[in-house]
Order: sequence, then C-alpha cells, then structure tokens
Amino acid sequence: MTHSNPKDSFVPSATPSTWLGVMGGGQLGRMFAHAAQAMGFKVAVLEPSEDCPAGHAADHLLVAGYTDAAALAELGAQCAAVTTEFENVPADSLARLAAQAFVAPSASAVSVAQDRLAEKHFFTECARQSGVLPAPHQAIASDADIDALPDALFPGILKTVRMGYDGKGQVRVASRDEARAAFAKMNGVTCVLEKMLPLAYEVSVLAARGADGEAVVYPIAENVHRDGILFTTTVPGPNVSADCAARAQAAALEIIARLDYVGVLCVEFFVLQDGTLVVNEMAPRPHNSGHYTIDACITSQFAQQARAMARLPLGDARQHSPAVMLNILGDLWFEPGSDTPREPAWERVLDLPGANLHLYGKDDPRRGRKMGHVTFVAPTLADAQQHFEQACRILGIAA
Ligand code: ATP
Ligand code: MG
Repeated sequence: MTHSNPKDSFVPSATPSTWLGVMGGGQLGRMFAHAAQAMGFKVAVLEPSEDCPAGHAADHLLVAGYTDAAALAELGAQCAAVTTEFENVPADSLARLAAQAFVAPSASAVSVAQDRLAEKHFFTECARQSGVLPAPHQAIASDADIDALPDALFPGILKTVRMGYDGKGQVRVASRDEARAAFAKMNGVTCVLEKMLPLAYEVSVLAARGADGEAVVYPIAENVHRDGILFTTTVPGPNVSADCAARAQAAALEIIARLDYVGVLCVEFFVLQDGTLVVNEMAPRPHNSGHYTIDACITSQFAQQARAMARLPLGDARQHSPAVMLNILGDLWFEPGSDTPREPAWERVLDLPGANLHLYGKDDPRRGRKMGHVTFVAPTLADAQQHFEQACRILGIAA
C-alpha cells in the first residue's frame, strides 16, 4: 500500500478550518458538500462554470478548467484531501493534486474506470476470484477489427471506449454492416463492441473503502432505465435473490480491494434471464443509484465519501428503511406533450408519507436533464412503492 498512515486522519477543525476539495460542480458535488459540511468540513469546488449545483453549496468555488495549473495548485494548497464527482476528470489533474493533498480515489483507479477496455480487462482479472465476467466484447479501432469480429457478438452494442454516459456514445447494431456504419460516425475514436445480452434486470452495488483497507458494502439496488437514463432505484430490489445479492456484493468488494481504492465506488451489473450475473461498468464516485442512501441508510454515500477521503472510520452502510428513488428530469417542467412551461406540484408530492425531495438548484430545466430526485421511504417496500406510484400520477409520469 502506498497510502500515508491512515491514522493520520483529517478531523474537522475550526481553527484553522479543515477543507475537503472536489473536482466538478454537478449535483454529486453538491450533495457531497452538504454531507461534508454537516460533519464540520469546509468544501472547495473546482469547476469551469460559475453557475453550478455544487458551487451554490460550496464554501469556496474555484472557477477554472480542470487542467488549469494555477487553480489545481490553489485547490491542493487549500485542501487536506481532494476527490472527484465525475469520472471523466483528467487523471493527470488528480496526479498533480496528489503532490499537495491526499487524493481519493487515486488517478490510477479513476483512469481504469475512464476506459471501457481497461475496465473490462480489469473485471476479467477480478472474475478469477469472483466468477463475475463482463459481457463478451472486442476492441474496435479499425474497419479490419469489424471484419474480424466473431458472428456470435451480433446483435451488439458499439460503445465509445471513453466519455460515454447516460447511454450517450453507444449505438445498437444488428449486423456487421450496421457496426461499420456506426463506427464510421464515431469520428475514428476507439470503440468496444459488446454482445447484446438478454437482460432480466439491472442492479448496482455501492462499496466504500478506507485508506486502512477496511471496506463496507451497501445493499444491492435494482435499477430501471428509461431512454438510457436511470429512472428508478428500488432497494430491496423486487427481483433480486439473496444469492444474486451476495454474488454481486462479493464481486464489488473484490473490485474495490484489487483497485486498492479509497472512496466510494459503484459497480453496475446485469442479471440475465438465466440468472447469470454480468459486470457492466463502474463509477469511481457516488452514483445516482446510491441516492437512496441519503434517506434510507445509516451513513449516506456522500458522508461515506467525506469519511474515506478524510481517512476517518467508515460509517455503517446498513439500510434502515425500504426505499424507491425516482429521478426527476427537466421534462417535468413542461405540460405533457407540449412546450408549455409548468412547475411540478411538489406540495402534493411532499404530502405523501415518507417522500423526501432533493432538487439540485438548476434553474434551467431541459428535457432529459437531471434536476433532482425524490426518495420514498416506508416501513415496507409495498408502502414505498405505493407512494412512488401516487407521485407518478401527481407528476404525470407513466409509472
Ligand atoms: P451510464 O453512465 O448512465 O450508466 P453508459 O452510457 O455508461 O450509462 P452503459 O451503462 O454501458 O452506458 O449502458 C447503458 C444501458 O444500456 C445499460 O444500463 C443497459 O440497459 C443497456 N446495455 C448496455 N450494454 C448492454 C449489453 N451488452 N446488453 C444489453 N443491454 C446493454
Ligand atoms: Mg451504465
């Protein structure tokens, strides 16, 4: 292990203040700031745009590009520890910050998650222990690579190796000809062709690991996507067996340990119709499917992120209430089927038992833009689901 002594933790202090830094100004940085501030830390955010969700919550916003040397030096000098809230943060910037501050997760761990091929290679190594493999796939850097693909990989999905998110940067291809046409439109970037698998449902597992190597794992979450964007997360997942949960949690723990990771990591999996568990991808940060932890777990994923980077003991990952998390997209600010603006009826949603509203302070709702989420917690999952369904009716969302 290359970490400094984990006992050497950054305890919140007022004189002088202990600062935690975050690269990126989105909603994940905002919710991190709220959790870190609740523990007494001050939070600095580095982000290119002044009007950003995390900037409104941070104690200090550095408006600068992610590779701006002066801004990185300022963040590194101000903060005891720095983390990231998005996976495409330049790994070089994290490496540079590491000369001045404790950086968690490390540049090397983040760079594996930034590259689908490196990630799948790494997952394949982990599978020797966990038995959980990624989807069959091949790298595509040229037309010749497409010619050489085995027929068994079709129908497939062509994904860019870097910079994909929310289903962007990927095209479903039924045949080799379609793969050629799709690859031609990718502007020459390296891609991976993955076999299209018969999914029964999708799950994710959050894990956190401290600098001392201690790890905790959250309950498995069942996720439903719509148009490539997460729609709901339900915990406990109605389809998830105890055996599937145990295998996915063990695989996530194997991944986080083998990466020598410090911080919060989310691993996404597919469960196939025959019950096979397949590892899809990982996010080196808190994750949208972990937002339920704010309202339903003893320690939220954001409080856990603050603890891990401050080298404090990790918190209890146990869930205290069943939960359904509903993502709120900008579409809700328009009358259904028209461009007439409206305000969602939050007063009616908040009247439902166990409803907790989280809005990210974005004042420009656009279709498909993540504006917030609502988590429904209840003594039983059936109650939480019922309140979620009522909210969908109020908001005009097909449940
Ligand atoms: P995000 O960052 O939002 O998680 P992404 O753009 O990185 O998404 P993936 O998670 O790889 O992309 O894929 C998005 C969705 O497409 C998956 O959640 C799944 O529903 C579907 N999908 C991806 N790969 C496959 C596959 N090999 N077989 C079947 N469905 C797939
Ligand atoms: Mg995904």
